[in-house]
Amino acid sequence: MLQNQLLVPTLREAPSDAEAASHQLLLRAGYIRQMAAGIYTFLPLGLKVLHKISAIIREELNAAGAQELLLPVLQPTELWEESGRYHEYGPELMRIHDRHGREFALGPTHEEIITALVRSEISSYRQLPLTLYQIQSKFRDERRPRFGLLRGREFMMKDAYSFSESREDLRVIYVQMFQAYERIMTRCGLNFRAVEADAGSIGGEGDTHEFIVLSEIGEDTIAACSSCGYAANLERAESAMPVADSLAADSLDALAEIRPIERFPTPGMRTIDELCSGLGLKPENIIKTLIYMADGEPLAVLLQGGHEVNEIKLGQLCKAAKLELADEETIRRLTGAPCGFVGPVGLKIPLIVDRHAAVMNEAVTGGGEQDVHFRHVKPGRDFNVELTGDIVNVLEGEGCPRCAEGRLEFHRGIEVGHVFELGTKYSAKLGAQFVNREGMQQDVMMGCYGIGISRLMAAIAEQHHDTGGIRWPLAIAPFQIHLLTISDKDEAQASAASSLYKQLRAAGLEVLLDNREERPGIKFKDADLIGIPVRIVIGKLAGEGQVELKFRAEEGSRLMDIEAALTAVREYCNPLK
Ligand code: ATP
Ligand code: MG
Repeated sequence: MLQNQLLVPTLREAPSDAEAASHQLLLRAGYIRQMAAGIYTFLPLGLKVLHKISAIIREELNAAGAQELLLPVLQPTELWEESGRYHEYGPELMRIHDRHGREFALGPTHEEIITALVRSEISSYRQLPLTLYQIQSKFRDERRPRFGLLRGREFMMKDAYSFSESREDLRVIYVQMFQAYERIMTRCGLNFRAVEADAGSIGGEGDTHEFIVLSEIGEDTIAACSSCGYAANLERAESAMPVADSLAADSLDALAEIRPIERFPTPGMRTIDELCSGLGLKPENIIKTLIYMADGEPLAVLLQGGHEVNEIKLGQLCKAAKLELADEETIRRLTGAPCGFVGPVGLKIPLIVDRHAAVMNEAVTGGGEQDVHFRHVKPGRDFNVELTGDIVNVLEGEGCPRCAEGRLEFHRGIEVGHVFELGTKYSAKLGAQFVNREGMQQDVMMGCYGIGISRLMAAIAEQHHDTGGIRWPLAIAPFQIHLLTISDKDEAQASAASSLYKQLRAAGLEVLLDNREERPGIKFKDADLIGIPVRIVIGKLAGEGQVELKFRAEEGSRLMDIEAALTAVREYCNPLK
């Protein structure tokens, strides 16, 4: 491709509202343009990268036995009523009406649509297993579209759905898809982790993993073991079973058993920090009491001072769909105490105690009245424990739940893919059944598997860039080779460029030739921004048969004979033919 014919509008400066490096660079290098918040045009270079990523995805999914189809973007909302997600999905679902007043949703995901297809087309176990996928624009009215392609309202996704006879067969496909995802991420040049995750609004009964690209800008926190392969999203991460506090662990055990609970004054000490500095305590010496409304019913949640409630875990443990922290007035009405002094002793509402707090022998808790706390509190002895479990976020440095040696380390990351074992959640609701080997009607067993292709493109740019621009990995770069002439008016340069261009293309390589009448400085700056992995600069020495070879990801360049450069580039790019 000749650069003077290509629409690649580079910018010196990024718009001031572009915060993420990928957002700034994709705009500056002429890959994307914003149309409205979270809505982007892919310019020719941007589309090329999307196509490269899509090609890798297609290759790996086809190899795993999946078949591509194309489902409609417009989805009758009756199907969302049937699945029960019409209200649950909330305002993220973009809804429109046709001229007859019938309502449609712009597809944010396609479980309902594909299940409706399968319920009418699949009737026997002989037609299973089946994995179908599509690549298509998705629509979600995100509350906070941001970071360019990382969180858009219209974005490109690959979504796949599998259908099997049994949970065992689903497992086989799940593992195949998981492995295909690992290959896709590796081929895209990503540093990633596959982590155990929470199923969110998609729901499901089995395993679910997220593919997280490690990046400081990521919205997800993952906890990974320093020793074994355990890694999980913070929403889901667990740590090793806690041990009882130190007092119980040593010979003072007996004393702890008998040391009675004691009320003591704590004027103005409402927060964990104030208690720690005022009384010389550590957060793990304190049990804090939070009052929640769980599906409208009050609930006291007890945890150590240094922990945070994980509402996903809490919701699962107390089987509540909706959890809200109670307001100050409700807290006072239910407990008689002002905020900061609420405690479990004598409380008349159900108590749920985190497992770390439950094993304490010597805790400080709120005293149930202004400016008072209790000390030497022992759960089970001084207050009733209705339910105990893991209801908090893990802390960095806690023990790994899987191996004896490891500690949990935190990383930030971008979720680019998600695989779910759905089970029969959608097939049961939408009536997608088949006749099994015993001749009985049975709900089909489903899995679903998504990759955010446009988000993946931005995630690659997050991991592969420097201050000058993007440094695309070879496999997904819009072109493999960038040819630059220093002066296109110089005949020797122009003819060397044209001959190299032809030979490289004849060798099956993708070449962009910068033949613009621009100053060399501008050409170099643009080339750095655009980020094509191999660059050949044709300058003054072209007449003597020499050119400069440079790799975008490396410093410095090498002066070489044209033939040697050709061979080196061919080897590096290793085209299929
Ligand atoms: P998030 O938690 O980031 O909102 P999600 O859990 O809603 O993601 P899924 O419903 O699992 O995402 O969608 C599958 C994939 O689609 C995600 O792994 C992600 O790569 C991509 N994706 C989801 N939302 C967006 C978005 N707003 N913009 C770009 N890509 C997205
Ligand atoms: Mg989302």
